[in-house]
Formats: sequence, C-alpha cells, structure tokens
Amino acid sequence: MIPMAFEYHRAASVEEAIRLLEQYGPDAKVLAGGHSLTPLMKLRFAQPAHVIDIGRLHELRYIREEGNVIAIGALTLHRTVAESATVRQRIPVLAEAAFRIGDVQVRNMGTIGGSLAHADPAADYPAVVLALEAEIVAQGPAGRRTIRARDFFRGPFTTALQPNELIVEVRVPVPSGKTGSAYQKYPHPASGFAVVGCAAVLTVDAETCRDVRVAFTGVATQPFRDTVVEDALRGQRADEATVRAAAEKAAEGVQPLGDAFASAEYRRHMAKVYARRALLQALTRAT
Ligand SMILES: Cc1cc2nc3c(=O)[nH]c(=O)nc-3n(C[C@H](O)[C@H](O)[C@H](O)COP(=O)(O)OP(=O)(O)OC[C@H]3O[C@@H](n4cnc5c(N)ncnc54)[C@H](O)[C@@H]3O)c2cc1C
Repeated sequence: MIPMAFEYHRAASVEEAIRLLEQYGPDAKVLAGGHSLTPLMKLRFAQPAHVIDIGRLHELRYIREEGNVIAIGALTLHRTVAESATVRQRIPVLAEAAFRIGDVQVRNMGTIGGSLAHADPAADYPAVVLALEAEIVAQGPAGRRTIRARDFFRGPFTTALQPNELIVEVRVPVPSGKTGSAYQKYPHPASGFAVVGCAAVLTVDAETCRDVRVAFTGVATQPFRDTVVEDALRGQRADEATVRAAAEKAAEGVQPLGDAFASAEYRRHMAKVYARRALLQALTRAT
C-alpha cells in the first residue's frame, strides 16, 4: 500500500499545470481531490513519476449561473455541488447524484473534474452529465475546447481528453419548460459506486412526453444514453403506464457487466427497475 516514488509539483496556475503536463508527458498525472488517483497509486496500478497537484487552483472552484447554463469549475467538490442552492433549484438531478457519491469524506475531497476525467464506469456524474447534455471544457497548450458529454466518454477509464489537457469547467444547460429530473442508484454496499445508476430528464407538454433523456452508469463498460427507452417515450402520453412500459426496454441491446456481486442478468433486470424509478420520479416532478 505504498506508492512508487514520484516527484511532487504544486501548480500555481492552470497554465503552469499544462506546461508541466507537456514537459513530463505520459510520466505525469494530475492530482485533484486524490480520491481515485491516490488509491490507484497505492495499489501501484498507477505509477506516475511526476504528480502535478492542482488542488490549490481555487479559481477552478465555483458554481455560476450564466443565463441558461450553470458553469461549474473543475475543482468544485462533490459536497459543494450537492449543497449548492443554485444546483438544487435549477438542476436538481445533479445535486441528487452528488449527494449519493461515496460518503462524507469522499464528497469533501472529490471533485467533479476529477470524477469525469477518471471516467470510472460505475461513477455517478457521467450518467447525469449525459442526461443533461452537458459540455466539458478542456484546456491545453492551444487553448480551450468544448467537448459534448456524449463525445467525452470513450470506454472504461478512457475519455476524449488529451494527455496535456485539463478539465477546467463543466457547463450544464438548465432544462426548460415543465421538466422533471431524477437520479436513482443501487449502490454497491462496500464502495457506494453504482451497481446501476439511472439519470432521467423528462419534459412534459400537454400531457405528452416532449423530450426525454435517460442515461445509465454501472451497467456496462461505459456510461450510455438509453435511446431505446427514450424513443419508447418521446411523443407518448405522459403517464405511469407509458413510463412503466418504456422502462421495461432498459439496457436492450447492451451487454451488461457481470461480476461476483451482480451478474449481467441481474444488472439488466435492475436497469429496468431503476429506469422505472427515475422516470416515475421525473414525471412526478414535471407535472
Ligand atoms: C471510498 C470511496 C468511495 C467512492 N464512492 C464513489 C461513488 O459512490 N460514486 C462516484 O462517482 N465516485 C466515488 N468515488 C470516487 C470519487 O468520486 C473521486 O473523488 C473521483 O472519482 C475523482 O475525483 P478526484 O478529485 O478525487 O480526482 P483524483 O483522484 O485527484 O484524480 C482522478 C483522475 O482524474 C485526473 N484528473 C483529476 N482532475 C483532473 C482535471 N481537472 N483535468 C484532467 N484530469 C484530471 C487525475 O489525473 C486522475 O487520473 C469513491 C472514492 C472512494 C475513495
């Protein structure tokens, strides 16, 4: 449980962190809240020769309302997201997910940027940013670029980030109209990570499901939007029977993960259960 020796660098600015990433290339890792990287280093699954600590870059800790977008700095703690009045009022599904991450120690240290960059297939935020159609802002030597959440996750622990880029911000559009949202998860009893996590965002107009977005984490090797469930609901009557029928289609065409705790068959079944719960809650909140 002792990591390999490494050189520690404390970045004084985003630009310095990027310069250090450029300088040390694949030998370097960024350290934010340390609640994923440090365990990996202790287990020697990660052995960076250079650790670049960005934890003191306070300019990356903020939650701002910018018109119809909530901008969240990459170093914003899970606890801050969970407790933010702005997030709770404008995008409650995000606050709900943040509140369900790990335990109080994890939420006091872990950051939204760290969680998204780490891209654990059972992490909570990925499902929520997919369902909210959020954007991830990355900064590298050539400046900033914006990556849609749907293009960001490329596989287990793999993202569209370049090795010399930092996540600096997450931009979440505030859903409009009569929209309800909810996050429901079946947490692993030991870690709290999602065995199955489902985020649902549902917009109702004239008793019809006008827009619907459903995303899962924990079910497969990477988080995904469940377009089969979405298609079964869009344009249909916004009532409990329709939601129940659509939720039965959850994870169709997806190969669920199977492990000692939950078989693939069990995960598929739970995906239906959690889709139903998240969608029914979103429906109640939308009407
Ligand atoms: C006991 C325990 C229980 C947990 N339970 C849950 C849970 O239920 N749900 C859940 O979602 N998560 C859970 N986590 C993970 C937790 O949310 C982590 O905080 C999070 O995954 C990583 O955030 P961090 O700030 O700690 O990142 P770090 O550990 O510092 O970094 C993680 C990775 O991201 C990279 N990185 C960090 N910040 C950036 C950035 N701004 N730009 C680019 N790369 C960056 C690092 O180089 C590293 O590769 C748990 C962790 C623990 C220890």
